[in-house]
Amino acid sequence: MSYNQVTEADIERLEEILDSKRVTKRENINEDYSHDELAEVKVYPEVMVEPETTAEVSAIMKLASERNIPVTPRGTGTGLCGGAVAMEGGILLLTTAMDQVIEIDEENLMAKVQPGVILLSFAEQVNDLGFMYPPDPGEKSATLGGNVMTNAGGMKAVKYGVTRDYVQGLEIVLPNGEIIETGAKVVKNSTGYSIQDLMIGSEGTLGIITEITLKLIPLPQKQLTLLVPFDSLDEAIDTVPEIINAKIVPTGIEFMEKDVLIAATDYLGKEFPETSAPAYLLLTFDGNDKEELEKEYEVAAQVCLDNNAYDVYIANTDERQDIIWDTRGALLEALKAVSHLDECDVVVPRNLVAEFVKYTHQLEDKHGIKIRNFGHAGDGNLHVYTMKEDLDEQTWQEKNKAVMDDLYAKAREMRGLVSGEHGIAYAKKEYLHQDIGPLQVELMRGIKNTFDPNNILNPGKVV
Ligand SMILES: Cc1cc2nc3c(=O)[nH]c(=O)nc-3n(C[C@H](O)[C@H](O)[C@H](O)COP(=O)(O)OP(=O)(O)OC[C@H]3O[C@@H](n4cnc5c(N)ncnc54)[C@H](O)[C@@H]3O)c2cc1C
Repeated sequence: MSYNQVTEADIERLEEILDSKRVTKRENINEDYSHDELAEVKVYPEVMVEPETTAEVSAIMKLASERNIPVTPRGTGTGLCGGAVAMEGGILLLTTAMDQVIEIDEENLMAKVQPGVILLSFAEQVNDLGFMYPPDPGEKSATLGGNVMTNAGGMKAVKYGVTRDYVQGLEIVLPNGEIIETGAKVVKNSTGYSIQDLMIGSEGTLGIITEITLKLIPLPQKQLTLLVPFDSLDEAIDTVPEIINAKIVPTGIEFMEKDVLIAATDYLGKEFPETSAPAYLLLTFDGNDKEELEKEYEVAAQVCLDNNAYDVYIANTDERQDIIWDTRGALLEALKAVSHLDECDVVVPRNLVAEFVKYTHQLEDKHGIKIRNFGHAGDGNLHVYTMKEDLDEQTWQEKNKAVMDDLYAKAREMRGLVSGEHGIAYAKKEYLHQDIGPLQVELMRGIKNTFDPNNILNPGKVV
């Protein structure tokens, strides 16, 4: 696909739509905007724009469409697969100036926001009003628009589901600049094909989201965390299906290995309550009824002890829970601080998580490369990291590719899927296409073509 380059005349038109302060030319674009948090690709856009309103986004897309210039939407760039990287140059459209919480509708338990609102500030704002917005991905500085576009999951998915479960309505600017609205502040909806569900998780390839209506729930009054040390990661992971089988519903179940944990405590400079065991499970429970909650965590604790857990530590103060979850949230950053790495976030049936993790250990020996794991054990979503350490570039590329090929093949054999929450974007296209086969790839291309016949919106991603 060939595109037009951004000319001085285009920049003048962009400055008329916005103002010169919100249009940044190539030579002034910070290096941060040439990549995301992990994918190996690094490409500078030709110009970066920061709209504040839907009308401005629409005018930018009309110009891009008329001039055949590619546009890449971007939130805070915390994605891990290259989705927010302007692979074909053109316009990088930052949504971070669209940062208004438009409405919190307490009667309908819904909120309307612009896409650039930061997850953490939104979650805190609704908590203060006695509500909860449950999706809880590890990176709280992401935008809500980015969360919707990647269908972000996170640490409460076992009980509360993922971002898709909370999207009630969207305002979308299409690649030609037209504006549509989907959904409404309603609880039920059987109204034709769901364009909204197509948009969620489409990684900025079908339209630009300019407003989001999100469902809220009442804030549970009590929460506690169990920190459970085990003799081995296998024992820890093998316990997870038994916890699920015990007919209790923890809010989240996470696993981590000792050296990843130590890397995180070093990175944060914080004392963790216990670091002597080779592996840990973290379980959270929340609810309003103290007795009910106690019953649930006692059942879970007993299952862990029956499966050779050293002990079960209960964190029931905010301070202790914060230390544990801050450390969990820092695992990726901590690994990144010690080595260049690549990741795989396959999702497998949750009774096969233990087998998958064991397989990653076999791959360490087979390929002679360090592999580290942590992740959302309760929903079958692994985060497997290959570590470059001091391998030379060519050896790293070869070994990493061989490990990734094996990991995705194993997930396929287990009837799992390529991505649980980080998306496909650029980095995982090859594996998506292998997984779903030519018929589904063609259906996806047909959908892309219907929304974006000239392929100007986030080209090079997903299909
Ligand atoms: C330390 C760390 C921990 C993480 N933990 C988790 C986790 O637990 N769960 C999880 O799901 N993810 C996790 N992530 C990944 C990342 O935070 C999510 O993918 C997040 O949803 C991205 O949001 P963003 O604002 O950074 O989007 P970006 O990275 O800027 O963009 C992501 C994609 O969305 C598109 N996009 C963004 N905004 C819009 C818009 N308004 N309209 C159209 N397209 C748009 C972009 O084009 C791109 O394809 C983690 C990342 C890091 C660095």
